[in-house]
Amino acid sequence: MQTRIEVGILGATGMVGQHFIKFLQGHPWFDLKWLGASDRSAGKRYKDAMNWNLAGSTPDSVAGLTVEESKPGNAPLLLFSAMDASIATEIERAFAQAGHVVVSNSRNHRMESDVPLLVPEINPDHLKLVPGQQQARGWKGQIVTNPNCSTIVLTMGLAPLKQFGITKIVATTMQAISGAGYPGVPSMDIVGNVIPFIGNEEEKMEQETQKILGEFRGDHIEPLPARISAHCNRVAVVDGHTVTVSVEFSSKPSAADVRHAFDTFTAVPQERQLPSAPPRPVIYMEEANRPQPRKDAERERGMAAFVGRLRACPVLDYKFVAMGHNTIRGAAGAAVLNAELMHSEGMLRP
Ligand code: NAP
Repeated sequence: MQTRIEVGILGATGMVGQHFIKFLQGHPWFDLKWLGASDRSAGKRYKDAMNWNLAGSTPDSVAGLTVEESKPGNAPLLLFSAMDASIATEIERAFAQAGHVVVSNSRNHRMESDVPLLVPEINPDHLKLVPGQQQARGWKGQIVTNPNCSTIVLTMGLAPLKQFGITKIVATTMQAISGAGYPGVPSMDIVGNVIPFIGNEEEKMEQETQKILGEFRGDHIEPLPARISAHCNRVAVVDGHTVTVSVEFSSKPSAADVRHAFDTFTAVPQERQLPSAPPRPVIYMEEANRPQPRKDAERERGMAAFVGRLRACPVLDYKFVAMGHNTIRGAAGAAVLNAELMHSEGMLRP
């Protein structure tokens, strides 16, 4: 880990791109050297190509970098992708074909059968899909993805409980406006209001959860055989998605068993002490009125999932609440942790 690895960002001028820049400041392994965006931005200095929408000012280390076209050429081996979904499919493929490791936050490739939909605390073995991906597509590079921002909160909350045999899940989200990018939802629609619809979000939550919690079977992922129903709502919260969850198990654990599972959950990123891994990936909060996005989303650098209010469910077996930072653990931080896991597996060698 002596020499830092040069990395780049595709979609660097966008909202998630800015979160990548912020999250990568001072990273011990990754050195941000390359920024890509559309032809509209290419050739401009970064500070002139975008409006910085996060707290603070544009970091000095990137302000003067020239934004590049999103074409393989002089980009580093490892690229984080935060590109608009309307164009990410072909551009990410072109970089993977040219030998780049594309760690993507976009939805485009998540459900492709040979692409890992990775949460390092849950399914690090899904990286074993990569050799088959490279062979089948004739790529020297690869594409690895992270989940949708609401899915990651749900699956982190469920991860400690997978051992009990999850058979049914009902999940209702209260999703922050930052998840809609910038400028996002018009203020007249969201202030003092709840919008009970986020396009394609429920389908993504249901399908991605089955893949993430599924099993690697040699050359494919067998989805978790659980029935999942998601209800997705946009609420007037800035950062932090909250999910209320009811869950049924095949093994009928006691409440103490479930609580013990939350309290003792740890995983590969913690064992390997990956730089962005929170010491405890899932934190159970005792207070009856927690977790709350305003009070808890930023804790642990935004990388942990907070759970609470575990109780019996009269319909399924148990219910609880989960909450996590949607643009950090749900986007940039998730992808950086994915790349850290890949580096710890020796996957970032040219
Ligand atoms: P955004 O602010 O609209 O940024 C989109 C980025 O894509 C910009 O850098 C833009 O560059 C670039 N781009 C657009 N057209 C391009 C082209 N033809 N070639 C190359 N680059 C192009 O979007 P965002 O909110 O950051 O979201 C980015 C991705 O992350 C999306 O796929 C989204 O679904 C996903 N995501 C977002 C969130 C969130 O919280 N917002 C959370 C999870 C996942 P220019 O500035 O040059 O146009």
